[in-house]
Amino acid sequence: MAFIENGYLDLRRYNQPTFRTEIAAIFVGDNGEPPANRDISIYPVDDIMKRNLFGRVISYIYVIEFQKRGLPHAHNLLTLDTYSTIRTKDDIDKHVSVELPDPIADPTLFQIITRCMIHGPCGTLNTNSPCMREGVCTKQYSKEFREKTEENINGYPMYQSMCTESVRVGRHYLDNRWVAPYNPWFSKNFNAHINVEAIVYQGGQEEEAAARAATRQTTHTAWFELNKNEQDSNNYLCSDIPHYYTFNKSAMKWQKRQRGSEQVIGRMPLVNIRDPQMYYLRLLLLRNLGAVNFDDLKTVYGIVCNTFKQACKMQGLFEGD
Ligand SMILES: [Zn+2]
Repeated sequence: MAFIENGYLDLRRYNQPTFRTEIAAIFVGDNGEPPANRDISIYPVDDIMKRNLFGRVISYIYVIEFQKRGLPHAHNLLTLDTYSTIRTKDDIDKHVSVELPDPIADPTLFQIITRCMIHGPCGTLNTNSPCMREGVCTKQYSKEFREKTEENINGYPMYQSMCTESVRVGRHYLDNRWVAPYNPWFSKNFNAHINVEAIVYQGGQEEEAAARAATRQTTHTAWFELNKNEQDSNNYLCSDIPHYYTFNKSAMKWQKRQRGSEQVIGRMPLVNIRDPQMYYLRLLLLRNLGAVNFDDLKTVYGIVCNTFKQACKMQGLFEGD
């Protein structure tokens, strides 16, 4: 993976991808945990499109993030055309699995999934797992068994996870409840930790999701307030604000830094793989100065767009659709 350095700009700070043909930084890990030394491969989007793996892709967008230990990974969001859109239980099952493969029928895939796609384990099996906060797994593992996939539980698909016998993974005996969502083709071809999820929108849900994304970003609304009150902050991108201001959590506002700001690296909020609106919001934040509200962010050539997605598209920030 390459990052273009143009003079003073360190694009890593913005988690910015460079070449439009890059779609994924894929890392190889044991038990789903990032290893100390890893391989990073780039998977060109052209390949996904040509193979028609998920159907016809009409737009794609991706964000590369750095985990706490500085390890990069990519979130990719593909939008499929009307004919390929994932709607039914069968569509979802075709693309995403959270079940251990049959070790006899497909030993290779079985080996890859048990090595790369098992969460943790955490909870009582390992209370020191990095996902644990106050005795609870922040990713809600282990999941529950489920007889069959359901398209929409509170807006998200819930995948089939049959109750079968545990298998030995490392030191533990684990079952389907510990498997992270994966796509068998991706896993088999890249032998890596690649999390794949389906997003099933039903009538009006995309707009609702956009409205939700616009209301809960408290550090963003604090940034808007700052822009209203301070002339200086209007010269900085949202991601640059931590260089000059510190976020006071109890007051929920940004305050001017006193000194020693040079070393601060701004962090954009992490993208939730299941929340496409956040991808678009993030792209807008990386390009707007001095916004005072979400409408400002959505304004392109003087027109307020209805959604973050539309605003990104108007600015030519993603291809297709
Ligand atoms: Zn966990």
